[in-house]
Amino acid sequence: MLAHTKHSARPRLLALFSHPDDESFLAGGTLAKYANMGWAVYLVCATYGESGQRGEYEDLSVNEFANIRRAELETACKHLRIHSPMFLDCADRAVGGICLNSATKQVLHIMRRLEPDVVITFGPDGISGHPDHTALSRIVSGAFWAATVHAFRGHRRRASLYYALRSSSVPEGCRQNERIEPPRLTTTIDIAEVGEQKLAAIRSHRGQRHLQPSSETAVQAILSTPEHFHRAYPPIGETALETELLLPRSRLGAQQVA
Ligand SMILES: [Zn+2]
Repeated sequence: MLAHTKHSARPRLLALFSHPDDESFLAGGTLAKYANMGWAVYLVCATYGESGQRGEYEDLSVNEFANIRRAELETACKHLRIHSPMFLDCADRAVGGICLNSATKQVLHIMRRLEPDVVITFGPDGISGHPDHTALSRIVSGAFWAATVHAFRGHRRRASLYYALRSSSVPEGCRQNERIEPPRLTTTIDIAEVGEQKLAAIRSHRGQRHLQPSSETAVQAILSTPEHFHRAYPPIGETALETELLLPRSRLGAQQVA
């Protein structure tokens, strides 16, 4: 499942989302931008999204459709120029249920092995409130603390944790969690230079036809709208806004390494 190693001089960014397409809509521009800057960018996808809308694939079996979505995500990662995705092999809608223990163990293992400098995942609101999103937020947040803060073992590492927020490039059809407020916007990433890569990644998810941009306005929103995040750790001032992901101080020297 995990073919990548942590041994690289480059800064490492690890994004964890629940279904193929989450990564492209929420953070595709940011993943592409930092990969183009020379960072090693990894993606974990908890499920194959086999319960999602079928579009042109409605005659396929569940397994066949899962394979299609897996291949679509592989293609999206190529457009973003990031590592091939790692999957937790959870059933769709089971991340916080039957898959909880397995997903928790795998995420912790991946974090300890990759030792990411920056982690991106869902916030507690899960954008839409989908149970796989909110469960993954809890799993990743817990693993982040367990894997990056070893203060009592003498080798505390520093890393940054970000929660993805909704921006206007997220399809209107994606509903808003009405029970949990999204975290405050702290971080705006300009993705205009990689907008075409983000658009190509989104279009790789062909089965999700209902989410594809259907107007020039929607295309322009994807191409040019900055992506939004909340920096959960380290803490940021109540009104502060940043325009770059925070690389831990100990890794700043590596940022120049391509
Ligand atoms: Zn999702």
